[in-house]
Amino acid sequence: MTEIIIVASLILVTAVVYVLFSGTKTNEPKIKQNETKDEYSKLPCIICCSRLKRGERLKSEKFTVDDKTTVHIFGCPFCLNADHSKRKCPVCKKSLKCNEYLIGDMWKKDNGKNRLHVKGCVKCISQ
Ligand SMILES: [Zn+2]
Ligand SMILES: [Zn+2]
Repeated sequence: MTEIIIVASLILVTAVVYVLFSGTKTNEPKIKQNETKDEYSKLPCIICCSRLKRGERLKSEKFTVDDKTTVHIFGCPFCLNADHSKRKCPVCKKSLKCNEYLIGDMWKKDNGKNRLHVKGCVKCISQ
């Protein structure tokens, strides 16, 4: 008889504990999801495909001549400093050295947002 009471009270205790913690449990994943969303930016590096963290930006230079903007994209902090071996041109798929870059055209869309069209790397454009 005592055993049954112990088991019953154990179930009660776990139920109470579960109720106590279920409130925080449901909130935790939401917060974590937001954190990962904030931690990473939407687009990966177009040269090495590694996911960029917020605040990490692709190194690029813009040149504007006669309303036409050309962008040279050098890469992200990861493939410029840490791992050169993953640097690849998304157009010709050839590997890029750290001093080689991608060339793209940038223009403003009607909604005011910048649009970038990557034409290729120095190698495939000069061919
Ligand atoms: Zn990169
Ligand atoms: Zn290329």
